[in-house]
Amino acid sequence: MIKQRICIVGDGLSGLMTAGVLSKVSGIEVTLIAKKGINIADKRTTAISDTNYKFINQNITTFRQKLFWPSKKIELFYETSKEKINFLNLNETNSNLMYVFENDKVKSKLLKEISKSKIKLIRKDLKNLGELKNYDLIILCIGGQSKIYNNITKIRPISKDYKEIAITGYVKHNYKTLNTSQFFLKEGPLAILPFSKNYFSFVWSVKKHFFENNSKKITNLLKNRITELIKSKQNITVSNIQSYPITLSLRRQYHLKNILILGEGLHTIHPVAGQGFNLVLRDIKKLKEIIKYYVSLGISLKNSYALDDFYNSRKPENTIMSLGVDFTHNFFKQNKYLDPFKEIIVKNIKNNETLKKFSKIISNRGLSL
Ligand SMILES: Cc1cc2nc3c(=O)[nH]c(=O)nc-3n(C[C@H](O)[C@H](O)[C@H](O)COP(=O)(O)OP(=O)(O)OC[C@H]3O[C@@H](n4cnc5c(N)ncnc54)[C@H](O)[C@@H]3O)c2cc1C
Repeated sequence: MIKQRICIVGDGLSGLMTAGVLSKVSGIEVTLIAKKGINIADKRTTAISDTNYKFINQNITTFRQKLFWPSKKIELFYETSKEKINFLNLNETNSNLMYVFENDKVKSKLLKEISKSKIKLIRKDLKNLGELKNYDLIILCIGGQSKIYNNITKIRPISKDYKEIAITGYVKHNYKTLNTSQFFLKEGPLAILPFSKNYFSFVWSVKKHFFENNSKKITNLLKNRITELIKSKQNITVSNIQSYPITLSLRRQYHLKNILILGEGLHTIHPVAGQGFNLVLRDIKKLKEIIKYYVSLGISLKNSYALDDFYNSRKPENTIMSLGVDFTHNFFKQNKYLDPFKEIIVKNIKNNETLKKFSKIISNRGLSL
């Protein structure tokens, strides 16, 4: 049987993970096109759900668990003018709620595996989709901004500029116990994600003008704010500070003929709930199932309904989850008229066991209940 040829473009987490997962499907040959030079200057961490962690480990067999730091507890706090209300604690005794990994480490590991595997790695900056006409399926994982998408769809995505910046970085500390926490602060949400014994990362989403006004003293500002939040007397070290503009962009068209958009190009969402890459992993899982099915029937991917099937099965969840994250962001945004009501709501959430159960299921498995 002649192997079907799939070309994946982009060496971000989406492209590398898609290449790793699809290369295990029999009957296909995978090529990965990535820009010259290793792109691992991403000093962020990513939190993934337990189900997605299991999916990665079942599909990328050589991954060592050491790269993933488990969390059994997540705490949510809401800052009012007087206090910080701990309004939701999620616990899991028998399994883990989520895992955190360092983007650069996982990317280098995936790249190393790919260069040793049967995946063909081509180092170039793709300019023209015409160069890829010999492939049965083309998957573009080229981030949220590429102009190449204009050749695929003229339909404008659902989009919004939050006019916010996500400040990320690492903190070295000496605490014995530190849980994954999300603080809804007056400046914007700040997440703390432990990823090793003495390190946690943070993501603080703040207004653009706040970031610009404080950019020169940002390290000290972060140090003081974080020390105050975790009520520490010990010294902490803040490093690897990076900043990312925050936008919402949801594609309404996913593919043209045999060319599919995947990853940030399909859905870029607010980082407040750490759901972006979780959605990508669920997309990859579904895409693998669909490709496996068509290939097993001997149907050429080039002229099949595989990408229509993908669109129909993933678009509803991607849209609902992304807009849900947008709703969460809006709910916790400061508003002097609504804040007194929000205080009442968050104080009551604590005792709502159904809501706790529901939040855990949705963040673990998405809407595939
Ligand atoms: C601050 C922040 C925190 C986040 N935290 C979380 C989290 O905790 N949990 C979670 O699930 N998600 C999170 N996300 C989302 C997550 O980071 C992304 O979903 C993930 O990194 C996937 O990105 P990507 O690979 O699709 O795109 P990118 O990382 O943008 O990669 C695109 C790649 O394509 C390459 N490329 C572009 N054009 C070309 C071309 N023409 N030819 C060849 N190569 C090309 C680029 O060089 C790049 O390597 C977060 C996002 C942000 C901004």
